[in-house]
Amino acid sequence: MLLEKGYVDPAALDLIVETYETKIGPRNGARVVARAWTDPAFKARLLADGTKAVAEFGFGGRQGEHLQVVENTHDLHNLVVCTLCSCYPWSVLGLPPVWYKSAPYRAKAVMDPRGVLGDFGVFLPPSTRIRVWDSTAELRYLVLPMRPEGTEGWSEERLADCVTRDAMIGTGLARRPGDAA
Ligand code: FE
Repeated sequence: MLLEKGYVDPAALDLIVETYETKIGPRNGARVVARAWTDPAFKARLLADGTKAVAEFGFGGRQGEHLQVVENTHDLHNLVVCTLCSCYPWSVLGLPPVWYKSAPYRAKAVMDPRGVLGDFGVFLPPSTRIRVWDSTAELRYLVLPMRPEGTEGWSEERLADCVTRDAMIGTGLARRPGDAA
């Protein structure tokens, strides 16, 4: 309707969609995670102020204004949802996947997070607590997954290949060496 009425320039709209689909995507977040795995000082800055730390890469802007990074450990696994709608850290993950916006995910993530992880094929030890973060338009979350074992001495670039989009939402784990891509 907006296009028909001439309120929106279709070329401008295409450019925005294309930018978030191809130029801004989970690859950005993966670079941030890989840096945090290899640079303790950066990791400290990232956990202290996610927005400021990702700005070191030039990542920021719309839908990523206030970013909080939450770290997975053996004792604690973080899972991100937006129960209200689909708030998501665009600056580091691009556009949200369809399931992230679906009512079943949004409802089940808070009621049965361990069940959701199982749906994604992730099975954590019972001793690992799961914390669910409900995103808002003002505050969005990025999960810092655990660095896979067997990656000692790897370059940031190689490590970034282990970092999947789902690992940064919390519905997955970082790929281990030898896992299928
Ligand atoms: Fe939302």
